[in-house]
Amino acid sequence: MTRAISLHDVSKAYTRGTRVVDRLSLDIAPGEFLVLLGPSGCGKSTVLRMIAGLEDIDEGRLFLDGEYGNDLPPSDRDMAMVFQNFALYPSMTGRDNIGFPLRIEAPGTDPAPRVDATARMLGIEDLLDRFPAQLSGGERQRVAMGRAIARHPSAFLMDEPLSNLDAKLRNHLRAEISQLTRELGVTTVYVTHDQSEAMSLGDRVAVLRGGVLQQVGSPRTVYALPENVFVAAFIGTPRINLLRGLVRAPLDGAMTISLGKQFLRLPEPLSLDHQLLRVQQGREVIVGLRSEAVRIAKPAAARTGEVALTGLVEHLEFQGHEVLVHFDTGSRPALVPELEAPRPAPGRPARRRRREGGTVLERLRERAGALRAGPVATAEAPGRPDPDPGPATATAEPRLPGDLIVRTTPDIRLRHGMQVPLLVDLAHLFVFDQHGRRICPSPDRLPDLEE
Ligand code: ADP
Repeated sequence: MTRAISLHDVSKAYTRGTRVVDRLSLDIAPGEFLVLLGPSGCGKSTVLRMIAGLEDIDEGRLFLDGEYGNDLPPSDRDMAMVFQNFALYPSMTGRDNIGFPLRIEAPGTDPAPRVDATARMLGIEDLLDRFPAQLSGGERQRVAMGRAIARHPSAFLMDEPLSNLDAKLRNHLRAEISQLTRELGVTTVYVTHDQSEAMSLGDRVAVLRGGVLQQVGSPRTVYALPENVFVAAFIGTPRINLLRGLVRAPLDGAMTISLGKQFLRLPEPLSLDHQLLRVQQGREVIVGLRSEAVRIAKPAAARTGEVALTGLVEHLEFQGHEVLVHFDTGSRPALVPELEAPRPAPGRPARRRRREGGTVLERLRERAGALRAGPVATAEAPGRPDPDPGPATATAEPRLPGDLIVRTTPDIRLRHGMQVPLLVDLAHLFVFDQHGRRICPSPDRLPDLEE
């Protein structure tokens, strides 16, 4: 039996007045693999713990298979949790660790057949007689998975189960978890701050920011139609290029988006979603260009819908199969505050906390003001941290140059300081308004993404 899990306007505050989960509503279908994704501290584990019954729900309602479940004790919820730190009993062998919950659930019943069947399923028969200290990280996590599976729960709740493992093992176990949960068809809620993990595992991904749900949708939808600039910036590698633009839409001329020294001229006749930009005339917007939207090519090679820019090569990141080229196009990058690593200047007090509220652009302006103010700001100059922001205390990322990162093949010979022609495919153009909400593309552009 697998279960439906529904959260209706659920909130939680550990300290009075500060909600770490704020009016969250989410319907998880039986058998679905739902990933809760967001930066560290955004409330993902708290949501999982509320579903498990390990944390009280302050406001709102939880339904399990349609039944009101706020007050149901954890033991009656029939869910199994898998944690980041494996949480195995050190004095028990693998066999006893897997069998322990079965003994508690059904005293007097021999757990051996289920333990053996689970071990066969996971390919860990040879680990059963070892103690946790005699197991590697990956093996311990397999035993922990075994303990969760052997119970035949109606839902798995997984809290960053792969975070303590090295990258290779993580990829391997990720594939195993995906295969296993699909085979078992058990509802799974999986917490991670790693967007690539979320995208590869989830039937749907729910993106949280500061306890507030930003968007929930299939991996393809959150990538192609992010509701806002936060989701756009959090999902995808390399990170989406975000540039500050100004819409110019004269009644008698072509519509353009000015990007500082250069501009994008929107092709005519305007597409439906580009027409939506007309009301932004004279306003600042945030232009988003994923790496697939820009290529290195001369204007003469432009295909329909492509417009030309030029960029000065500032930095080259050789990746083996590809090169990430950092260009300076003369535009100003837009920052998403929660995704930029804090960069307090050495020996100076940390800057005051960003006030809550205000539009994204107001916050950008505030930041730009600070940039002009002096050395503290220099240390906080815009960078492009990894899309995985890591723990809240992440150390400062070095500032990377350029405002536009473009992917290319290693055979194109580029040097620092070269002026290079670029083509931007406007079919892949993202535009966000002053509040960070997506204006383009409109969902009509991508009808096949309907959930
Ligand atoms: P995430 O899983 O997204 O990293 P958490 O749900 O663990 O986030 O935490 C959300 C916020 O709640 C964080 O600011 C964290 O410090 C705070 N928090 C979590 N657990 C407790 C607790 N038991 N008491 C007080 N604050 C907590």
